[in-house]
Amino acid sequence: MSRTLTRSRQHWKKANRRIPLGVSSNFRYWGENRTIYVDHGKGGRITDIDGNQYVDYRMGYGPGILGYADPRVDQAARDGMETGGVFALSTELELVVAERISKMVPAAELVRFSNSGTEAVMAALRLARAYTGKDAHVIVEGGYHGVFDAVLWYADIQAWDPALGDPPIEAGSEGIPQVLKKLTHFTPLNDADYLEDLFKRHHQDIGAFLIEPMMGNCCSITADPEYVHAAKQLCEKYNVIMIVDEVKTGFRVAPGGVQELMGFKADLCTFAKAVGNGYPIAILAGREDIMRKIGKGVIHGGTYTCHSVALAAADKTLEILDETDALDTIARYGRDMQAGMSRILKARGIPHTFVGHPSMGGLFFKQTAPGNYRDWLDSDYTFYDAMAPELHDLGILCEPDSREPWFVCEAHAADDSLPRTLHAFEKAVDITLQKLGRKAVKSLGSDEWS
Ligand code: PMP
Repeated sequence: MSRTLTRSRQHWKKANRRIPLGVSSNFRYWGENRTIYVDHGKGGRITDIDGNQYVDYRMGYGPGILGYADPRVDQAARDGMETGGVFALSTELELVVAERISKMVPAAELVRFSNSGTEAVMAALRLARAYTGKDAHVIVEGGYHGVFDAVLWYADIQAWDPALGDPPIEAGSEGIPQVLKKLTHFTPLNDADYLEDLFKRHHQDIGAFLIEPMMGNCCSITADPEYVHAAKQLCEKYNVIMIVDEVKTGFRVAPGGVQELMGFKADLCTFAKAVGNGYPIAILAGREDIMRKIGKGVIHGGTYTCHSVALAAADKTLEILDETDALDTIARYGRDMQAGMSRILKARGIPHTFVGHPSMGGLFFKQTAPGNYRDWLDSDYTFYDAMAPELHDLGILCEPDSREPWFVCEAHAADDSLPRTLHAFEKAVDITLQKLGRKAVKSLGSDEWS
């Protein structure tokens, strides 16, 4: 191991006495010995409290689109501080930011702000129920939409016998009321026939179809544009609101998000992460006739919505993403990084594909890209799971779970992150090969790979 984690380990022991798991979000706990605590972040790098520096490809699960402590955004945030915080009243800047969002995302006819992705999706779902008068919803298998009860369910594909019908549905946490189970349905990505069959059987109850067309929590598995268009038509036919969750893809994969890439308009869409380069702000937006229900029967709001610091940060971040070539820079870096990784893997006969968009690419150890969550589950992710901790030891921070894509920020392109990453990647691959042996590569299907 080429780094020490002494202080992080000591701190974890102390923190765990007062804070469950020693962290404030379960996903930040990587075990007693590997949970790290951050000293600071700058650009595309994080320094932990032991002084280890990492090129970071988690970027907070996506918010850091420009980089940590971006001086342009931080200056705007400081100016926002002068405005005074929250007032239980609105400011003029909200409209300025909303106008830009509508310009960037054509589906955003009307806009409301929230604080987090969870809150925005929760509001979208409530709105869809109110508009259609139907309480149930459909989630795409492998999708993630936040930490609220209605969406914390998953289709238990591993315990599934297809001969017995649909996969069983399980709650993603204890404490979620079982009565909500009957309101949740699942469908595999990229299978319009399955979706139509589901709608045929349950359309009297289903008010919303929730989809991340590029699955930011599932290896960036991507919908075929034809599927998305077919799903949209089915939603229209069966009076279901299509909620496109762009919490990860929004203002990242294109100025107009995945909707721009695939050429369609959601009924409702949600954004967070990149909106404020890390300052907590989220967006619920969509069709005017649906959004007008807000305030006319549907409640939406919250004490901290449009905090002046977060709003000023969003104003500046979106201006940069809209008016500069930041997104092109990010995509180019992502492509170059993937090309470099590919060279390294190919030279060792390791089958792989990159999934999704280069600014948030999934690394999949198989020759063909997965079409849905079932493909990911069927795949062999041993190699990834073994390689990720090696990368951490070598100063490259990716999520230990291969379902999380690699997030690129603009600042990565401004220093030596790329050669550093590829150098460490090559080493990590070799160490992993040594540890697992060639048979691990064989099981990825290397015989067919040339
Ligand atoms: N939707 C998607 C697609 C997400 O990726 C996330 C967070 N990873 C959420 C919703 C929830 O957002 P938050 O963590 O800001 O509540």
